[in-house]
Parts: sequence; C-alpha cells; structure tokens
Amino acid sequence: MTTEPGLNRDAELAALKREPLPRPHAWRIRQTEVERLAARGDRCETRRCHGVIVAVTRRWWRSTEAARVLLAEHLVCEQHGTEFAERHHIGVDPPGEVTVRHLDAAELAEADGCDWQACRTVAAWVFTESYTTRGEPDSDAYLSCDRHAAAFADRFHIDAPEAGEGGAR
Ligand SMILES: [Zn+2]
Ligand SMILES: [Zn+2]
Repeated sequence: MTTEPGLNRDAELAALKREPLPRPHAWRIRQTEVERLAARGDRCETRRCHGVIVAVTRRWWRSTEAARVLLAEHLVCEQHGTEFAERHHIGVDPPGEVTVRHLDAAELAEADGCDWQACRTVAAWVFTESYTTRGEPDSDAYLSCDRHAAAFADRFHIDAPEAGEGGAR
C-alpha cells in the first residue's frame, strides 16, 4: 500500500470532480420566522445589506482545499433572494407550513412512539411540516407525546398545542 501523500490527494480531487453537485435552491421562510429573525436583529447576510430576512439560499460547491462538496447557506432579503434565483435560473419556493393536531382514536391505536430523540412514549400529537423543494411539494410528519409537544412547537417556532385541544372530540 502506497503512503505517498500526493497520490491520495490526486485520487481525492479526481473523485471530487466526479461528485454530482445538487442544484442551487432558494425558498421563502414563514412569516412568523421573518418576524422572529427581525425581532432578534438578524439581517440579510449579503455584505453591506441590512434588509429584512425573508428567504434562504443554498448553493453547493466543490472545495479543492477540503476535497469535498460543501454547502453555502445564507439568510437573505427579498432583493438578494430574487437575485440569487435569477443568477441560477431557478425559482424561489414558497414558505413551508407547520401544523399540529391531536391524533384521532384510530390513529392513536396505530401510532408509533414519540419521535423526540429517544423518547418513544405513546404519541398523542402529530406535527406536519409541508414545504416545496424546487417546485415539488413534500412533507414530513413527526409524532409527539404530550410531554414533548411544547419541545416540537419550539423547534418549529409555532405555538404549542394546549393539552386536550382539537383532536378526538
Ligand atoms: Zn440583502
Ligand atoms: Zn416524547
């Protein structure tokens, strides 16, 4: 086995060149997120811009230094989000949505345990995150026990559901 450093490096860089790059991606954030970031004093990450953050941009690039594909993600204002999308000939996806509801009786009987870390306690709630990626709608669902509903709500920056609210009435 060779230990010559240059050879490994060449192989790494050749592999890097073959690595497919995901297409750039931009999407709007939810209005409640816009307000939360603005209240926190966060501003567009583009140099010298102090615009209100309304979108996220993602661009993947090959770093020869790291010999890896790296991701550059930025929180940007309306103007810089639009310019990014135009530059890469893509659209800006609409904001996602997070909803929470109580599982109904039939779902409760079938449901797996809480998805919070290693909890696995019987789930009572389902959080659904709906979003659009490059024009394609998609969604993820997370089950939560009573105890972790507030933690999930906090993660998604939405209001925590009140115990007993909604659901199996
Ligand atoms: Zn900006
Ligand atoms: Zn739990």
